[in-house]
Amino acid sequence: MSDNMSKEQRSYTMSRIRSRGNETTEERLAKLFRTYGIKGWRRHVDLLGKPDFVFRKEKVAVFVDGCFWHGCPRCKLKPKTNIEYWTKKIRGNRRRDRMTRGHLEGKGWAVIRIWEHALMHPRRIARAIEDVLEGRRKNGICSESEKKNMEANQVIFR
Ligand SMILES: [Zn+2]
Repeated sequence: MSDNMSKEQRSYTMSRIRSRGNETTEERLAKLFRTYGIKGWRRHVDLLGKPDFVFRKEKVAVFVDGCFWHGCPRCKLKPKTNIEYWTKKIRGNRRRDRMTRGHLEGKGWAVIRIWEHALMHPRRIARAIEDVLEGRRKNGICSESEKKNMEANQVIFR
């Protein structure tokens, strides 16, 4: 995305992208999986919160979250027009994200939410996701090392 856009223009552009089904970020992550040979994922799996990618065997759900839409504390893309509307919308998204996480984790799923800005670090994302998948294959669901991995990768994961 071009750097000479104002944050407001960028938000608008991002909302346009999002309204077409967020194909850009999803496609980028699919490409990343192919590049790093990460297999076993599926899209459009009917699961609460509509994860972008699901590893059914390992019970891992992956979301890619737009920094504007989910209120990324790092990018701080604040709305400048219709502030009340956007603030409410973003707050609602975040609330729903938390509920989705709670629900899925309660059913034994690992929930990986990747910030859009983290797509700049594909190798790091690939390694972190592979760690979670590998851990689940070896140790079954939700091990201590999985929790540590998630915490260690907070720049990428939410
Ligand atoms: Zn961000």
